[in-house]
Amino acid sequence: VDVAIRLAMDGVKVYSYGDVYKLPGSLYRQGKLPRSLAEAKAQGGNVEVVYSFLDAIRSARSYGRDSVFLAVGFETTMPATAAPAVQGRVPPNLKIINVNRLTPPIMRYIFDNVPEVRLNGVLAPGHVSTITGAKAWSFVAEDYGIPVVVAGFEPIDVMLAILEILRQNLAGEAKLVNEYRRAVTWEGNTGAQKIIAECCEVVDSAWRGIGFVPESGLKFREKYAALDALNAYGIEDLDPDSWSYDIPAGCRCAEVTLGKAKPTDCPMYLKGCTPSNPYGPCMVSLEGTCSVWARYGGAGIARKIAEELGIDI
Ligand code: SF4
Repeated sequence: VDVAIRLAMDGVKVYSYGDVYKLPGSLYRQGKLPRSLAEAKAQGGNVEVVYSFLDAIRSARSYGRDSVFLAVGFETTMPATAAPAVQGRVPPNLKIINVNRLTPPIMRYIFDNVPEVRLNGVLAPGHVSTITGAKAWSFVAEDYGIPVVVAGFEPIDVMLAILEILRQNLAGEAKLVNEYRRAVTWEGNTGAQKIIAECCEVVDSAWRGIGFVPESGLKFREKYAALDALNAYGIEDLDPDSWSYDIPAGCRCAEVTLGKAKPTDCPMYLKGCTPSNPYGPCMVSLEGTCSVWARYGGAGIARKIAEELGIDI
């Protein structure tokens, strides 16, 4: 995010998804940069919000000058970035800041490094699983003995997945079950997997507030290195030695992301940090844990339900 903000302030056009647009960087705390791409734009930075990478390609073609696309996402968004790259449809004036991350490795990281987080089951993300296939989550049951259910996004999907986890808990089982069969197959979208593998290699990558996680990110292969904005602008990529804690002071996003704290444990929650005026990264995207909690559980609904069920949360 800091790289994108700096380029935007230097006049390079930065294309961004709408949720990333408001995401705070980390260098603003030292007074070096605007806080987000939104603030950069307000201060005269060159930023354009797009719905997709294809929109960025179309715009960059007609713009004709130096541009970058801030590609933030997971397995779900990477194919849309990789496909035009592999097909040679990215104009030479458009480069990509590739910060796509992989979800199974971060889950394995939590199991291995955050033992205080004890899980009765895992709802595997349905949208990611459409690409990876349900098979990507088999390690949860096989290696860690935890029930795992690939779930869709309708309330009935989530309830069925929780029911299956409870059933396995009562039966003393740990299996992988695919509840979201109308969208997710065992193998996943093999076409998308091939395009990603053609374009990128899997590398150790930094996660915000957490640090480097083994084999959890994607980097352009040598053949596509010309697309990499870091190469094009001579910007050094992060490495484990140069990475430093990059969450705004007082924000507990890293603990929230790892399941070590609830959003309500954060003193900023719904005080200095709200969905309309986010302070930390977990409050920015509609899918961010703090944002979800604020919109659906922040009034104490989750706590009330837990109390009624006699569950300690
Ligand atoms: S409420 Fe805001 S400041 Fe607190 S952890 Fe969540 S995103 Fe960070």
